[in-house]
Amino acid sequence: MKKLIVFDLDGTLALSKSPIDSEMSILLDQLLASIKVAVISGGNWPQFQKQVLSKLSIGNALNNLSILPLCGTKYYFYDSDWKKLYEEDFNEKDRTFIIDSVEQAISDTGLLPKKKWGELIEDRGSQITYSALGQDAPLKEKQNWDPDFFKRKILKTALDKVLGDYSVNIGGSTSIDITAKGVDKSYGIEKLHEKLGIEVAEMIFIGDALFKGGNDEPVRKTGAYCIKVRDPEETKRIIEAVLAFLG
Ligand SMILES: [Mg+2]
Repeated sequence: MKKLIVFDLDGTLALSKSPIDSEMSILLDQLLASIKVAVISGGNWPQFQKQVLSKLSIGNALNNLSILPLCGTKYYFYDSDWKKLYEEDFNEKDRTFIIDSVEQAISDTGLLPKKKWGELIEDRGSQITYSALGQDAPLKEKQNWDPDFFKRKILKTALDKVLGDYSVNIGGSTSIDITAKGVDKSYGIEKLHEKLGIEVAEMIFIGDALFKGGNDEPVRKTGAYCIKVRDPEETKRIIEAVLAFLG
């Protein structure tokens, strides 16, 4: 018997960076009334609030929901209000070394942008994110900047040389994420096992990027039952099937 349904966020529950729609919020409310649910994403806590939590009904069913921002290096649960169970931040020495290394690599590779929108380097606690055009760059500018990943591969190669003790990953359309080694969605699955006491084999994971190289793929090796979806519409049909099964 499965005891926990785990969802990816972007492309699975909602379109990228968008809130879940009203049909999805109703289905999630119903699901939370029957079974434990978790959401894992590489995004940070405010993104979950905006895209998911603000659209759910407030009530006891929220006690069944676990939120794992930054792949589970942060963990939030509900008990009359949202509370942080833990946060695994970089220490000051790591943080300074990573930020200095990123600044050096941008300058060495000649990738400093002529124009930028907001800060280039964001400290998210357990993840340092470099956004080549700034945090607030318009979508169109971002899409045109590095469509073939060429620039970010150059930067990643440069960073891998100095940041070998960390994990350097190509993120969204202009970004590079630096985390502690081994932090991906499989890390979040392990955290759920540890904190909820539910066996990984009793979990179902639903994600849109379970394909090779996708950011959900690491979950496959954990032993959770994985269901690959095309988009949030397909996720809704799966939730309906689960609801019918749970009765
Ligand atoms: Mg996704």
